[in-house]
Amino acid sequence: APQLQLKDIHKEFNGNTVLSDISLDVNAGEVVAFIGPSGAGKSTLLRCVNYLETPSSGELLIDGKPTVKIASKPTRNELMNLRRQVGMVFQSFNLFPHISVLRNVALPQERVLGRSRKEAEERAMELLTRVGLGDKADARPSKCSGGQQQRIAIARALALDPEIMLFDEPTSALDPELGGEVLAVMQELAATGMTMLVVTHEMSFARRVSDRTVFMADGRIVEQGAPEQVFGAP
Ligand code: ADP
Ligand code: ADP
Repeated sequence: APQLQLKDIHKEFNGNTVLSDISLDVNAGEVVAFIGPSGAGKSTLLRCVNYLETPSSGELLIDGKPTVKIASKPTRNELMNLRRQVGMVFQSFNLFPHISVLRNVALPQERVLGRSRKEAEERAMELLTRVGLGDKADARPSKCSGGQQQRIAIARALALDPEIMLFDEPTSALDPELGGEVLAVMQELAATGMTMLVVTHEMSFARRVSDRTVFMADGRIVEQGAPEQVFGAP
């Protein structure tokens, strides 16, 4: 069965339809890129997957199991479980400014997973090294470039051992060179078999890295397929 199943996800804001019954199956290890004009609903769809937005109706299953009861307020427990399973990286990095890079990556593990400080910091160091920032562990985030901060945010999300990672325009706030560092880390993550849903304006990323590109407009999936199919042959 697909790892993630979206069934007829519908979302309205104040009576305006933003997502029109979106259905989508994503297999484990698949990288799906969402492209399309601004206002198409890409970001809202991504946010529905981890309940940063509550869908108006529809069903969301992970590993064949319903995650939360849609159209009722999710319980604290349901939300905690979902946020553990699904990690998210935003356009803005949202790091804590007053603690070190290492603590930024360790703290959520302590709070959410109940890991000991030692265990959390070891795992944080391992992940910071993996994203090329082992040498920044003791620095404050403000001493890091935007591209480095985004890589720290990726390490922080991975530290909770998610099954699925969501990326909402992760490079849009960065100039191309720094965005390139982030895209390289994402490409490596994709190669490890992580399931990834990525909203992006980076057509080259969608083309080169995604297994599937989904083109959205007006709250609907207009077209989807292998990138060469959606973009045309190179
Ligand atoms: P995209 O990511 O494709 O640019 P969004 O999902 O951000 O599209 O937005 C889709 C539509 O939903 C837009 O018209 C946007 O203004 C609207 N929208 C998004 N979030 C909200 C909100 N919290 N309240 C009201 N309207 C919203
Ligand atoms: P993006 O599409 O890049 O994610 P937006 O600028 O569309 O960002 O939205 C930023 C934030 O504003 C989001 O939290 C979104 O839910 C909210 N938002 C977007 N459009 C509206 C709107 N029309 N009314 C209220 N909130 C909105």
